[in-house]
Amino acid sequence: MLLVGNGCLITQDDGSPLIEDGCVAIEDGLIAEVGATADLQRRHPAAQFVNARGRLIMPGLINTHMHLYSTFARGMALKDEAPGNFLQILERVWWRLDKVLTLEDVYLSAMVALIDCIKNGTTTIFDHHSSPGAVTGSLFRIAEAARRTGVRSCLCYEVTDREGAEITDQSIEENRAFLENCKQSEDSLLRGLFGLHASFTLSDKTVARCTRLAAELDAGFHIHIAEAEADVAQCQREYGKRVVQRLHDLGILGSKTIAAHCVHVNDAEIDVLRGSKTNVIHNPESNMANAVGCAPVLEMMHRGVRVGLGTDGYTTDMFESLKVANMLQKHQTGQPGAGWTEAPAMLFSENAAIASDCFGRPVGKLIPGAYADVIVVDYDPPTPLHSANIASHILFGVSGRSVVTTIIGGRIVMEDRKLLEIDEQEVMAKARVSSEKLWKRF
Ligand SMILES: [Zn+2]
Repeated sequence: MLLVGNGCLITQDDGSPLIEDGCVAIEDGLIAEVGATADLQRRHPAAQFVNARGRLIMPGLINTHMHLYSTFARGMALKDEAPGNFLQILERVWWRLDKVLTLEDVYLSAMVALIDCIKNGTTTIFDHHSSPGAVTGSLFRIAEAARRTGVRSCLCYEVTDREGAEITDQSIEENRAFLENCKQSEDSLLRGLFGLHASFTLSDKTVARCTRLAAELDAGFHIHIAEAEADVAQCQREYGKRVVQRLHDLGILGSKTIAAHCVHVNDAEIDVLRGSKTNVIHNPESNMANAVGCAPVLEMMHRGVRVGLGTDGYTTDMFESLKVANMLQKHQTGQPGAGWTEAPAMLFSENAAIASDCFGRPVGKLIPGAYADVIVVDYDPPTPLHSANIASHILFGVSGRSVVTTIIGGRIVMEDRKLLEIDEQEVMAKARVSSEKLWKRF
């Protein structure tokens, strides 16, 4: 048994959100008990003890929309004129980068980003992968990196028609092979979804192939929906309807499906998203930086749509994403009070619910029976901290760099900011060599 105690325990459980001088007891990868440090230590005298030294003990954070493959774009010079709109961003950056990735690049990109996740306290990710030049085996290389680092990961390969029929076939097959593998595996750290790029790069015929296969495999989808106005315009032009309606008619929406962005959705589409119980993922930093607009997330949440929080590859630090989600709503609505409750709800409640459904037991809460994904955060509150103001302390006092210890499924992967099982410098050195070669092919 492992005890993590002697800290201010934030459970994210509504019933008992804060325990001063709290402790979690971990056994077989799960949280066995939550309570006062003295009590748990008395009852489990032989347990290994991680001393939080008065810091915060929290559930590990969850990122519900990520692109690990974007890692090598950091610092990369573009070959063309700077993009002037969303489609040009895809054509001049991402669709050029993903095409020249090798399987080794895919693995190293994932290793770097997953190490970064651990260092920022992100213990679960939902990744959306693309590497058209190296499709076959790509999800298995990412899974290898996930196992090596220990980060709980739900993976998928984005199927698209934009690279030609052969790549489409390979992509569908990669999803199938990985999903089959997940079904047979006992690995509680790995799950899969059926990946689709976006409405504007998918024909009805390709989507129909994917829905048939996903139904056989009992899998949901992970797709970008109405990220930019261009996606909506193309859909209306080609199919005479808006994106959410088209994908609903094609059988893509549902309670297992992750719909990233949903920036350009109208009232009727919000009803469809709610009715189909689709999980919408807000990516505030990405949307702002790509200048695609602000998703109507407050409206969606008030009307009962489940809205989680992702980063779209912009960062691995969910505390940063939380801050931006909070600010964006104030900026967008002109109301300084907007988003106070919704931004923390996206990160701490909705992401936890999405991950719990996907991984089959509670994730993102420190309650008995949940997966033991726990972080220790170096934060000494300068003002009173109590159960009613936790979100405000986290929003203004904590960043990813504050995370000192990360535990995933009961395994201590970082202690006092040192990774225990990985030579971080060696991974970064290999990544610099590979990324330099990739930049030449870009
Ligand atoms: Zn994305």
